[in-house]
Amino acid sequence: MAYVVTQDCIKCKYTDCVEVCPVDCFYEGEDFLVINPDECIDCGVCEPECPADAIIADNNPLFTKRLLDINDKMSQIWPVIVEQIDPLPDADAWNPQKGYKEDKTHLLDKFDKE
Ligand code: SF4
Ligand code: SF4
Repeated sequence: MAYVVTQDCIKCKYTDCVEVCPVDCFYEGEDFLVINPDECIDCGVCEPECPADAIIADNNPLFTKRLLDINDKMSQIWPVIVEQIDPLPDADAWNPQKGYKEDKTHLLDKFDKE
């Protein structure tokens, strides 16, 4: 089992997930958070906390190896985040759970290149 943050976090970054993670394995980029898959203990407590529904396990149909690779790679580059911070200013406007309707997958492209 592995948990990853999906593209639906991008431009939202509510960070409710950070507050509940028992092993502090979230890492923070400018507009996206990721999980370090080696540190994650697969407890699953973060999954229901995300207001954007952007945390999934590897048995979810939306899980991809690309997401796992991006979470793994960026978590080794970005700093750890251990406390909740304010969401990005337009978080609700970008939140698929609050009506944002576009597919956000293309927003992952920049992380393939980093
Ligand atoms: S709670 Fe969800 S949207 Fe917020 S930072 Fe965590 S994964 Fe991203
Ligand atoms: S599944 Fe548990 S250990 Fe893994 S990121 Fe979520 S809260 Fe942290």
